[in-house]
Amino acid sequence: MESVRNILITGGAGFIGSHVVRLFVNKYPRYHIVNLDKLTYAGNLGNLRDIESKPNYTFVKADICDFDFILDVFKRYNIDGVIHLAAESHVDRSIKDPFTFAKTNVMGTLSMLQAAKIYWESFPEKYEGKRFYHISTDEVYGALEITRPQGDSNSGECGGGPFGDKFFTEDTKYNPHSPYSAAKAGSDHFVRAFHDTYGMPTIVTNCSNNYGPYQFPEKLIPLFINNIRHRKPLPVYGKGENVRDWLYVVDHANAIDLIFHEGKIAETYNIGGFNEWKNIDLIKVVIRTVDRILGRPENADMDLITFVTDRAGHDMRYAIDSTKLKKELGWEPSLQFEEGIEKTVRWYLDNQTWMNNITTGEYEKYYGDMYGNN
Ligand code: NAD
Repeated sequence: MESVRNILITGGAGFIGSHVVRLFVNKYPRYHIVNLDKLTYAGNLGNLRDIESKPNYTFVKADICDFDFILDVFKRYNIDGVIHLAAESHVDRSIKDPFTFAKTNVMGTLSMLQAAKIYWESFPEKYEGKRFYHISTDEVYGALEITRPQGDSNSGECGGGPFGDKFFTEDTKYNPHSPYSAAKAGSDHFVRAFHDTYGMPTIVTNCSNNYGPYQFPEKLIPLFINNIRHRKPLPVYGKGENVRDWLYVVDHANAIDLIFHEGKIAETYNIGGFNEWKNIDLIKVVIRTVDRILGRPENADMDLITFVTDRAGHDMRYAIDSTKLKKELGWEPSLQFEEGIEKTVRWYLDNQTWMNNITTGEYEKYYGDMYGNN
């Protein structure tokens, strides 16, 4: 049977990308899903074992910066839709190596856009029926102040978040602070420029922090679950006062599906679950959940919390207003945070082989450089 759509998903071997690939391959058997990924340290085909032999799935190992190769992929698979997730994604690494972030996130995105433009403009109908969807982050908006340090559980969506009266909306001016967010901001600008200059049908979404299965354990939640299990110190930046807004990764993937199909061309949508947590409080929830599931005494591992020198330029608070997405497309997160954390902790504890496979070699060196070898 002929495919009704040929969709190129970049970064599909990474954390969020693997959930998007899985969703599309399973939900749309008549779409051909081409997952293009360079398999950097963050890319792992072990994230996709359950769908890799499906007939509507193809994996291509490639670098998005390799323009000639990317153009060839568009032609070979007759690509009519792009969901672009491939990026360098870890703020701490961007502080040490900003060049790689500018190259992959800015030049790589430009290479994707230019390949799409050349291929799609070769048809008489040009951009009709085509779509270039770029996945970005709330970090491009910069940082919000904490105006309610103790948190206020009575604050509602309209009265601001529990830790401050402002949210990031789609109209918030870009003000990135880290090399990671600066590079993502650059890529977002290029995507919008391709719409404004050439008429390319683009969409950009900016999402809050994701958590859930298959996240590389350099990021806070999987790193801490693994360390608690092995009774290793939990390095907390500063005093753990920074606030982040957390969304379960499957809810992000569902939002991407909805927006890819029903989002308006040239629009921006913010994605988030109105779920702000001070880092230190989140860490305590993770410790309690791991201890309960492992049958350890309550709070047995609180002593692992170790405050370390704060990250350079550490943004104080992120908080996303996703009202537009709810009002226009009816999207809402499906999981309460407590359920999401329970599922996530259980997944990492149940998938120790997955964790062992990626926490050797390069990871050990990275971990030692960041936190010492204890
Ligand atoms: P990740 O680091 O887990 O995965 C990135 C993937 O991109 C990896 O599979 C990697 O191999 C691939 N990749 C990197 N450089 C490449 C290149 N040059 N060519 C081809 N592939 C390459 O990242 P993630 O957390 O899944 O994030 C995916 C996207 O979502 C990123 O664009 C990120 O900015 C964005 N985002 C992430 C979050 C979050 O909380 N993780 C939140 C909002 C937005």
